[in-house]
Order: sequence, then C-alpha cells, then structure tokens
Amino acid sequence: MLDIATLIRNVPDFPKPGIQFKDITTLLMHPDAFRQIIDGWKERYTPMNLDAIVGVDARGFIFGATLAYAMNLPFALARKKGKLPADTIFEEFALEYGTDKVEMHRDAIKPGQRVIIVDDLLATGGTAAAVVRLVHRLGGEVVEVSFVVELPPLGGREALAPTPVHTLVSFMVD
Ligand code: AMP
Repeated sequence: MLDIATLIRNVPDFPKPGIQFKDITTLLMHPDAFRQIIDGWKERYTPMNLDAIVGVDARGFIFGATLAYAMNLPFALARKKGKLPADTIFEEFALEYGTDKVEMHRDAIKPGQRVIIVDDLLATGGTAAAVVRLVHRLGGEVVEVSFVVELPPLGGREALAPTPVHTLVSFMVD
C-alpha cells in the first residue's frame, strides 16, 4: 500500500495568503497510487448497489469519472454555473467572500437513484453540501460523499451531516 498523503503536494499561500493548497496533480503522476484509490473505492462501493456517480467540477471529474468507468456506472457532472448546455437546476453556496453556484442537468439523476458524490478535497463542505441539495432536488439518494483529502479543522464533515462522509487522507491544517 502506498502512502497517499506523501504524494500530495502542499503549496503554501495559493491561491491567496494563508491557504495551504493540497495539490493532487503530483498524486496523479503516480499511476499505482491512482489505481490504489480507484480500486479501493470500487471495493468499498460495489456492495452498496449504486446507480450513478456524481463528480464535482473540476478535480472531482478526474476521480469520479474514473471510478464510474471502473464500476461501469453512469457518471453525472456537477458543474460551475453556466457551463452545462441543457435544462439545469442550480444551488448557491457561501465562499469566504461572496457566493458561488453549482448546477446539474435536470435529467442527470432519476428519482430514486442511489448515488455517491466524489470530489478531491473536503474543506468547509459548502461545495459538496450544495451538490447534495441538487441530488435531493432531483429525487436521488446520496449514499455517501467521498473525497481523497479532508481538512478536519474546517468542519466539512459536520457541515455535511447527516450525509455519510468517507475520506482517505487527513491534514490538520486550516
Ligand atoms: P469547500 O466547499 O470549502 O469544502 O471546498 C472544497 C472545494 O474547494 C473542492 O472542490 C476543493 O478542490 C477546493 N479546495 C478548497 N480548499 C482547498 C485546499 N486547501 N487545497 C486544495 N483544494 C481546495
């Protein structure tokens, strides 16, 4: 087993002073580590009888789509607002300064479908919580929200409760 945490690059003060940016591009350069993550998730999620995987713009697409391919499941995109071409619904969420919006195609999830939501990193949980609301509005059930990295001091796990959260690596930075 590879130590995933050691393959993630810490970039101080990006995109602004005080932020410790957890850069997963260095991890993606190790195919054995990428495979370990996807194979581990496949083993975890196969018994959960999922109907689809939802990936969060943009790094969640890398991990989510690869898992969807490995599990032979439909892949649905939760994108930054204004990028999806057909009929959409959106949710707004708070950033440190101001707000952002995330949206999905109205036909991306069918009522009653069991899904997981995948992104690279859980910080405050604001982004993922907005995607949970989108899936719920479309009638889907969020079985779990899955991340490679968690920053526990930022409280994302608590913000997403009662939706179950699964993460592979934790860094105690804020
Ligand atoms: P949040 O909504 O606060 O949980 O932020 C999560 C989203 O922002 C994810 O899509 C991450 O890719 C990105 N993000 C937030 N903080 C960081 C960080 N310190 N390093 C890398 N990505 C981050």
